[in-house]
Amino acid sequence: MRIGQGVDVHPIEAGRECWLVGLRWPDADGCAGHSDGDVGSHALCDALLSAAGLGDLGSVFGTGDARWAGAHGVELLTEVRRRITDAGYRVGNATVQVIGNRPKIGPRRDEAQRVLSEAVGGPVSVAATTTDGLGLTGRGEGVAAIATALLLPLTDRN
Ligand code: MG
Repeated sequence: MRIGQGVDVHPIEAGRECWLVGLRWPDADGCAGHSDGDVGSHALCDALLSAAGLGDLGSVFGTGDARWAGAHGVELLTEVRRRITDAGYRVGNATVQVIGNRPKIGPRRDEAQRVLSEAVGGPVSVAATTTDGLGLTGRGEGVAAIATALLLPLTDRN
């Protein structure tokens, strides 16, 4: 078994389409970034890559690579899944916690869990919290996410 952790933070950009934990949120401003700004998916990618010893988001999807410009979280996760499978691993389980004021994740938690679990091929739990008005997420300047992933060898089917 191998464990990995990932963290991501992006600034919120007024009027930008919001993508978070693999879903589009029509009632919230999105995050700026080279891709779709989905901090939840990015943190999960980093947790998976780190667990497999395959580097990090920046080394796999460099901002200089036009192929990934505007890419959605699920597309990045699909590529990460391909890489961890090639490396001989599958997802045991993973968690993503979003830290921010908006959007409110709770009402669409199941949907997010379904989309992310499908993308990585193993169960992903999604949680959310705020910082009670403190810091950049509390002031609504940005959204953060932290993820943990446990990988199992492909040969271990138990
Ligand atoms: Mg990011």
